[in-house]
Amino acid sequence: MTEAWRPDGEDERRGASGPVKVRVPAKVNLHLGVGPLRRDGYHELNTVYHAISIYDELTARRGDTLTLTMEGEGAGELALDDSNLVMRAAHALAGYAGVLPHARLHLRKQIPLAGGLAGGSADAAATLVACDALWGTGLTRDELAGIAADLGSDVPFLIHGGTALGTGRGEAVSPVLARPTSWYWVVAIADGGLSTPAAYRELDRLREAGTAGPPLGATDALLAALRQRDPRVLAATLGNDLQDAALAMRPALAETLKAGEAAGALAGIVSGSGPTCVFLAENGAHAERIASELTATEVCREARVAHGPVAGARVN
Ligand code: ATP
Repeated sequence: MTEAWRPDGEDERRGASGPVKVRVPAKVNLHLGVGPLRRDGYHELNTVYHAISIYDELTARRGDTLTLTMEGEGAGELALDDSNLVMRAAHALAGYAGVLPHARLHLRKQIPLAGGLAGGSADAAATLVACDALWGTGLTRDELAGIAADLGSDVPFLIHGGTALGTGRGEAVSPVLARPTSWYWVVAIADGGLSTPAAYRELDRLREAGTAGPPLGATDALLAALRQRDPRVLAATLGNDLQDAALAMRPALAETLKAGEAAGALAGIVSGSGPTCVFLAENGAHAERIASELTATEVCREARVAHGPVAGARVN
């Protein structure tokens, strides 16, 4: 929406005059194949991302400077200065588009911090989409994805959403064509986070010591399972090379995985670098039953039901 011409000679301002609200999902990796360490310090990844219905929400309003406030998961713990991925994303977009990074940003966070659900990357993706609309910079999805890739490996996927193959260090994303099916998940959120770089270092250490499990390899079986509608087939193909590392760093997660399977989940895996564990259910009602059983056994801080795939960062 364009603002009206002003008689005092001020230039017509582009972009939205009212607040822009963007909702962005969390991600899980249905397959996280970790290849060798590259010269640039990243690992080569072969992953299948899947966006699920746990959301953060970013609201962007016009302002005279750039400010960030937040509520929800991690409020009071997470720095709101230029180290926050929201602020970094706003600066990166403004720099690319040649506009002043002026906005009042507010984050409502439901994705746990350092949980292996890419909450920070989600917030960066939401900020790019929100500020693009607020400032009227009108970038294409591909331009936004380019800026996103510099902010973090998972950020381009969180702009796209859905289910997608990620290669390179995860930033090269291509959508997976699958039947329009919803899958139902139970997301077991742990107390406290795990550091992603520490999980990769632990995997390198386990591999050097020869105690890591065999690497997952290709995504073919998982991609074939996604083309069917049977959650039992999908369950047999889920995998995460970082799981051994997360379990070594947080042995209690083995109990969480066991409890989910005892509660009837078709399969359970650690999400990304953990400590969140995700369990595949037959359907929504089955997921609700597993979630209440997990909550009762106290193997996690909270168990939430989610479905996927859902869209990436979108203006509401
Ligand atoms: P991933 O799955 O991408 O490895 P994660 O889910 O384990 O990530 P995040 O919640 O994305 O972890 O955050 C990782 C770190 O990023 C946090 O510990 C925090 O220091 C930093 N960070 C910066 N900005 C944000 C933000 N807006 N939300 C969450 N973390 C942020």
